[in-house]
Amino acid sequence: MGDAATLVTPGQMAARVATLAGELDGRYAGSSEPPLLVGVLTGSAFFLADLVRAMTIHVNLDFISISSYRGPQPRVPGGGRSGVVRIVKDIDIAVTGRDVVIIEDIVDTGLTLNYLRKTLAQRSPRSLTAVALLDKAARRIVPVPVEYRGFEIPDVFVVGYGLDWQGLYRNFPGLLAVRDVARLANNRSLLVHALAPPGVA
Ligand code: IMP
Repeated sequence: MGDAATLVTPGQMAARVATLAGELDGRYAGSSEPPLLVGVLTGSAFFLADLVRAMTIHVNLDFISISSYRGPQPRVPGGGRSGVVRIVKDIDIAVTGRDVVIIEDIVDTGLTLNYLRKTLAQRSPRSLTAVALLDKAARRIVPVPVEYRGFEIPDVFVVGYGLDWQGLYRNFPGLLAVRDVARLANNRSLLVHALAPPGVA
């Protein structure tokens, strides 16, 4: 497909998620209480759902939603970010004394994860750990620890497996690198054929 390239296939995704799940199992197997996995809405929902189903220990789940002001530009590579991040929906479960695991879809500038880490750390968890499916390390503005990562990816705009472009394309089962975001902006259905399973398109 000319307008996008598959960066991670569904099979590669499942294999990596299973490995991460095994690592988290090992890390928290001996803990007295299940770890509290905090999914960052909305992008991490698919990753979180697959991750916990590959885990074999007890876990607790909660979700947090944040918004970050991005300026007038859409979220394109190099797009404007003011760094203003705020909580839109907080978690309901108390984190004090708990092993808290932040589940992110992607760490890009690091502003979001940095804010989340600081905010949750103030609530005195027993431990605080971040798992990011994707790490765009080349774009980092704020250095922030990422203890577990699925894939380090180059500075490309990606959609699929929960990641969106203007709310669309989350439901592509693998990860697509969009070659030209401006072309997508002119035709939001540009990549829609990628959503159909093989043999159906
Ligand atoms: P950060 O605060 O710059 O690290 O941005 C993290 C958020 O930016 C992610 O949770 C995504 O919502 C969004 N984001 C960053 N890069 C991409 C991308 O390539 N595709 C889709 N969303 C992205």
